[in-house]
Amino acid sequence: MELTLTEFVCLALGGSLALVLFAALLSRFFHSRGERHALARRVICRLCLHAFEDSSLSPIVTCPACRASTERRHRGNLG
Ligand SMILES: [Zn+2]
Repeated sequence: MELTLTEFVCLALGGSLALVLFAALLSRFFHSRGERHALARRVICRLCLHAFEDSSLSPIVTCPACRASTERRHRGNLG
């Protein structure tokens, strides 16, 4: 099978376009995943309202700003 120049260019363009779209989708997917994880780790201090991230699994975390112990809020428990 022999490709003409036009066919080759079309294939190259189409291929790179598909690759770019795929990469964009992939990065968007991983970005939103990371954001959700960061949101799950986010804690807001009940005293000074300082927002920070804590990756430990303990239900009580210590605020780095005022050293007060704060109960970790779970998603959907903000009301
Ligand atoms: Zn605090």
